[in-house]
Amino acid sequence: MSSYKLLIDGQLVDGAATLDVINPAEGKVLATAPRADLAQLNQAVAAAKKAFPAWAALAPEEREAKLNQLADAIEAKADAFARLLTQEQGKPLAEAQGEVMGAVFGLRAFGAMRAETKELQRTDTARVIEVRKPLGVVAGIVPWNFPVLLMIMKVGPGLALGNTMVLKPAPTTPLTTLLFGELAAGILPPGVLNIIVDDNDLGSALTAHPDIAKVSFTGSTATGKKVMQSVASDLKRLTLELGGNDAAIVLDDVDIKQVAPAIYASAMSNSGQICLATKRVYAHSSHYDELCDELAILAKASVVGDGTEQGVTMGPLQNKMQYEKVKGFLLDAKAEGTVIAGGEAREGDGYFIQPTIVRDIADSARLVREEQFGPVLPVLKYDDVADAIRRANDSEYGLGGTVWTSNIERGIEVANQVDSGTIWVNKFLDLPFDVPFRGAKQSGMGGENGEEAINGYTQAKIINVAL
Ligand code: NAD
Repeated sequence: MSSYKLLIDGQLVDGAATLDVINPAEGKVLATAPRADLAQLNQAVAAAKKAFPAWAALAPEEREAKLNQLADAIEAKADAFARLLTQEQGKPLAEAQGEVMGAVFGLRAFGAMRAETKELQRTDTARVIEVRKPLGVVAGIVPWNFPVLLMIMKVGPGLALGNTMVLKPAPTTPLTTLLFGELAAGILPPGVLNIIVDDNDLGSALTAHPDIAKVSFTGSTATGKKVMQSVASDLKRLTLELGGNDAAIVLDDVDIKQVAPAIYASAMSNSGQICLATKRVYAHSSHYDELCDELAILAKASVVGDGTEQGVTMGPLQNKMQYEKVKGFLLDAKAEGTVIAGGEAREGDGYFIQPTIVRDIADSARLVREEQFGPVLPVLKYDDVADAIRRANDSEYGLGGTVWTSNIERGIEVANQVDSGTIWVNKFLDLPFDVPFRGAKQSGMGGENGEEAINGYTQAKIINVAL
């Protein structure tokens, strides 16, 4: 038994089994979560299917009102959400507060979204209109790095546009999602939103379920490929938001002292566990040493610790598996490059890694080629910007990236040549809910936010009329 409950058909219920959730700052059990079995997954899908016609038939304004109620309910408990998020995920409290408030604003923004009917042609003899209809039951699968915000980026548009949902958080961060489920139970009609928790064992049953119309998946590229295979049998609609290996290209015209803190934050926020984090830096040879030194100063000034403690600027890695993986990247960094800050995991029970800056490392090193998803940043040197762009593009990923310059036009010109779904010039991680966000290459398919969300959660239909 657990005080946390699954949400199935409007009821808060125990799981068929339980799952221990670890506080990554302590390496100890934080709480016990309910764990669903296949029968409960099937109940959740059946409930969502039953709830769909009535929910889809509501006026968009009625659904928006429900989403606004959900936003208000989270906001009223924002402190509890943020604290629980820090305890289960690890990020410092200030970052957790930012994520929770992002979710509140997101629900309100998505609630206001409308799938407008468009007139495509009007002549004396014909009228062609395009309408958009909800898809049915959507499976939302969420990773552990932003459990609250990434959940809302699926629940918000999914429900606003008339779909019902079965949501599955990552097994290491289910608690804030279950807390959200408690609020939703009192606000949404039964079955509109169902929340199940697994131990990484129900994902494929959910994506393969014949009554699921669409899968919206955020997670690793490796799992994304499995999801794509799983939905192929009945051609379900699919959105994949996957991994990245974003490059920061620092042009020769910048003031290094001015841009270094932003570049550092773009790589190290959330302990580097962000799909769109800077995962490699390309700096012009004229200021390579200076940038390395500035980044090392910032890394050494970071306060690593339990995110609930005041003054802490970097929390632990979220889970043991990721911690072990990043320790492997530290070994690679030492073998292939020169570590100028950090380089060690912290002794003790939590999953702490010191923020690490690595210079003079080859392009062929694992730390440069793979997604480290942790606070270990390689800094590479270039002479010719065309070479930096070529090396940035030499990746199977294409999620985001940044360009740093004092010349905006030059920045846009370089940005235009980077193969990615998003690229920022002199800023990072700015993801407005009304601007589409998508991955190029193996970083994803389809997208979220803005027009992509409207198209992704609806089926377009053409009505072509003879006049
Ligand atoms: P993961 O792929 O291991 O897990 C993601 C989710 O998929 C979890 O809920 C997991 O339980 C579930 N899952 C596992 N096996 C499954 C299966 N066979 N079928 C369906 N679902 C299954 O990813 P993770 O380690 O939790 O997250 C880190 C990764 O996510 C990184 O690669 C990161 O870049 C990526 N990410 C991408 C975005 C984006 O928007 N592009 C955002 C955040 C994270």
